[in-house]
Amino acid sequence: MNKNSLAQFNNILQGFSKHEDLSSEINSSNLTNVFEESNQKFEYKFIEELPENIAHNIIYIVGEKNYQWMAAFICPCGCEAVIKLNLLKKTYPTWKVSVKRDLITIRPSIRRIVGCYKHFLIIRGRLFYIY
Ligand SMILES: [Zn+2]
Repeated sequence: MNKNSLAQFNNILQGFSKHEDLSSEINSSNLTNVFEESNQKFEYKFIEELPENIAHNIIYIVGEKNYQWMAAFICPCGCEAVIKLNLLKKTYPTWKVSVKRDLITIRPSIRRIVGCYKHFLIIRGRLFYIY
């Protein structure tokens, strides 16, 4: 596993978007964070309703055309918790899902406040834990 400082992390992801500085994604008070890339990759699926059995490493984007209200997936850490993220802009907290060249990105980072307490970012289908 690679451990990376924020500066190195930004380097790794250069080419992702030239004008994006991911440090803005992280609390400015936490610039000593270390990023560790996981081998796991995420795919995505647009669906109208969340199925009862959801698969690992797939982010389900739930809603209708032009109106997605939730992203759900199994926590990648192995704790098996189903993480559900609100995508509605007017409800806090809210996340933004984007898909570019078939790769999914979720902003901002996801920090679990129960269970495993993992903190991670999903960028272009890649998973980075933040410590
Ligand atoms: Zn977990």
